[in-house]
Amino acid sequence: MVDVSWSLRCVDCGAAWGGLDVRYRCDCGGTLDVIHDLEALKGLPLMQTFDERRASRDRLDRSGVWRFRELVLPLDQAFVTTRPEGNTGLYDSPRVASFAGLASFPLKHEGENPTGSFKDRGMTVGISIARRLGMTRVACASTGNTSASMAAYAAMAGMEAFVFIPDGAVAAGKLSQALAYGARTLMIAGDFDVAMDRVQEVCRLEGIYLLNSINPYRIEGQKAIAFELLQDLGWQVPDWIVLPGGNLGNSSAIAKGLGELRQMGLIPRMPRLAVIQAEGASPLYEAVRDGCDLVPFPKASTIATAIRIGNPVSWRKCLRGLVASGGVVERVTDAEILDAKAVVDASGIGAEPASCATVAGARKLVKAGVIGHDETVCGILTGHVLKDADTAAGYHMGTLSGIDAQRANPPVRVSADIDALRAALSR
Ligand SMILES: *Cc1c(COP(=O)(O)O)cnc(C)c1O
Ligand SMILES: [Zn+2]
Repeated sequence: MVDVSWSLRCVDCGAAWGGLDVRYRCDCGGTLDVIHDLEALKGLPLMQTFDERRASRDRLDRSGVWRFRELVLPLDQAFVTTRPEGNTGLYDSPRVASFAGLASFPLKHEGENPTGSFKDRGMTVGISIARRLGMTRVACASTGNTSASMAAYAAMAGMEAFVFIPDGAVAAGKLSQALAYGARTLMIAGDFDVAMDRVQEVCRLEGIYLLNSINPYRIEGQKAIAFELLQDLGWQVPDWIVLPGGNLGNSSAIAKGLGELRQMGLIPRMPRLAVIQAEGASPLYEAVRDGCDLVPFPKASTIATAIRIGNPVSWRKCLRGLVASGGVVERVTDAEILDAKAVVDASGIGAEPASCATVAGARKLVKAGVIGHDETVCGILTGHVLKDADTAAGYHMGTLSGIDAQRANPPVRVSADIDALRAALSR
């Protein structure tokens, strides 16, 4: 068997494991990192190569993940399933910036990925390594977007997909994707944290490959958000990157990617990360505030279903990234998330609720003086506006219970009479 250039290493105890081992945790229970041979890459003109690939027609070069393959996973092309991912827009809306209290606030819209969320960046790597490992069945627990992404990539790769979702707590746009892409969808009586617990056990018993972000290869693909963002910025490092945190895989990934660029001397310093949690699902916020280990929220609750997670799997990896980058954690209420969403949406950009925690959190951190008005700040929008159409419509129609919608734009009922219609044009 051919050897591979990468290996796995335990985040907690440092134990090393083989690059082709099928495992998600160390024997000590710690989560795993993919470790690359970065020394072997030193001295290569990587950024120039990455920039040249942007103009290429090659299948891998066109992907905003595999374009960075030396730093993501140097896998034999024959195993790669790609849509392609990434190449997402970076939008700097004056309206959003001024809402946040900043002169400029470019937002990288990861909702523009093939299935409508950043999960595709991790999934292309997860499914490709599954093929490399000879897996034919894959599974995940999901608040919705992971299952939509996995279902699509598994279908393309000809694999059987099993989705574990909390019954009644997944937005319709996401559930419909899992069903339409042909995944066997198990709606579990329990929340995400219960689904996450059960899928790990079922995968172990059945020998199914687990594609949650506990899978270290998902993290490798999601690092490419940071790589592509810096590439968009001409490799200039911003002072801050702001993003939402749920299971904390994405913040872990972005911190790992930036740390590796720093380690290789490709960037002079790391941007500071600001991870934003929803108030009803903010165990990392409390752990950092109290300076102790994470205590799970037994009943996580927020309207932003993508970050409704009480027991985040990757919290240690995320914390490591926060320490390395001088980062912070903030939390915001559902009302703050939805008002920020109304601004993002009305600017013409549009994103799902969890994404807009980014903007609500940036605003709060600027107000508190943690982020300076004159600092360079970028945000990540994680999912597409149509993923959760019900929440957007409910906000504007005033039907969300407990939400006093500050920026609602309700529709107007009017007769089909020209004079009545003309009168209705003015607010
Ligand atoms: C998955 C997801 C998140 C949370 O990312 P984590 O890696 O779980 O912290 C945020 N927003 C959207 C739209 C998501 O799909
Ligand atoms: Zn260990």
